[in-house]
Amino acid sequence: MIDTHAHLDFPEFDPDRDTLVQQMLEQGISNAIIPGVAPALWQRQLAIAQQYGFYYALGIHPWYCPLKNDVDISELKLLINSRRQDHALVAIGECGLDKLRQDTWPFQQAWLEAQLQLADELGLPVILHCVRAHEELLTLLSRHSPSRRGVIHGFYGAPELAARYFRLGYRLGIGGLLLNEDARKLHLTVQHLPLDAFILETDSPAMAPKSAIDRRNTPLLIAQIVAKMANLQKKSSVLISERLSENAVQLFEL
Ligand SMILES: [Zn+2]
Repeated sequence: MIDTHAHLDFPEFDPDRDTLVQQMLEQGISNAIIPGVAPALWQRQLAIAQQYGFYYALGIHPWYCPLKNDVDISELKLLINSRRQDHALVAIGECGLDKLRQDTWPFQQAWLEAQLQLADELGLPVILHCVRAHEELLTLLSRHSPSRRGVIHGFYGAPELAARYFRLGYRLGIGGLLLNEDARKLHLTVQHLPLDAFILETDSPAMAPKSAIDRRNTPLLIAQIVAKMANLQKKSSVLISERLSENAVQLFEL
């Protein structure tokens, strides 16, 4: 299994990253994708990805986009071009829209559009972050989707919303929020959409389920997410983990 979204480069993992990676392997989580967040963090992210053999994406998160409209992603382009031969670089992202961040909101759309364009030029999929801006994101994606599409990560919406993304060719990243008893819309989404619509992720160290909210999230949560999906889809955990791994392999060409 692959955790398709884990910030394993974050300092929360500095004290025990080696041990955690060992535990991941013991539990059959063979790899993870570390998404890019901000230019200032890219070098550290790349160093950790390389050290452990993790996959990675490069991009600018909507919380960290520069507060200007004259978008210049030449630094991102340059870095990606220098790594085009690296098979571990699998996507652009994470990028997207987040209405809860009022400070960057006026600038987010321009930064997202530039990264969608870049993904299309480079033939890479995108990892998308979206909070309370689904109509805006769907409008944008219906106009300018990169050819390889991508994933709406940390998805927690209703089946109707999920189906709109799936019809546009996007997958939904399902993580720890599925384990919350009150996540009814998300439970319905997992029940009603085909397995092809989903990939597995944790967004570690964030997005711990409520039962573990005071604790750091880790990729080790994947087994519980698979078990919950198996329960909701009335299928075996083995089948769920196989099919969702295939989806990740297909989307990111791993
Ligand atoms: Zn993330």
